[in-house]
Amino acid sequence: MKVTQVKCPKCELPLYMEQQDEFFYCSHCGTIHTREMQRVERIPYEIADFRDSTPADNRIYVPFWRLLTDFRIKSQDVRGGFFGKMGQALKGGDRGGALYIFVPAAHLETPAFRYWSVNLTINNPRYGTRNDFGGTKRMPAATNREEAIELADFVAVTLEAEKPGTLQYLDYSLTVNEAKVVYLPFVSSPSGLHLAL
Ligand SMILES: [Zn+2]
Repeated sequence: MKVTQVKCPKCELPLYMEQQDEFFYCSHCGTIHTREMQRVERIPYEIADFRDSTPADNRIYVPFWRLLTDFRIKSQDVRGGFFGKMGQALKGGDRGGALYIFVPAAHLETPAFRYWSVNLTINNPRYGTRNDFGGTKRMPAATNREEAIELADFVAVTLEAEKPGTLQYLDYSLTVNEAKVVYLPFVSSPSGLHLAL
């Protein structure tokens, strides 16, 4: 196994990376840094707690970008579908509001990527947080913030495709106001990943 050694940008202690990971986690000071446009940048993150009944075997943390977006539907004729539901839920005449979009930061196969981005965006997960990984494995991150922000539009289009309404064309605007990483607890099994919240 190839082990890469880098220094933590905050406390300067060495970090030993056993796998290729976009996120450099320092277990000494608990910070995560990432390389963004050639620059090393600290990223805010949360670690969600496992459900108590989760068996210790096959526990894994999967990183997601949680993007706080300002989502505005511009089309006047939106009935049904996800955007229609959104439009009704958003108060006021301008049909805009805050939407949390979840983008997997780990490399997932396309069906799993679609499934988890859609489900977590429609039903935002609720969880308690903890301060460390407690020895649980974590999936390496493959997607940086810029890439996640670019993927937010893909997720929005996918949401509409999953629950199609009568929207003739997608006319909306989406602005990302905040990007944070959330490590969500999963159990990995031969049938795939199962959320353990
Ligand atoms: Zn450190």
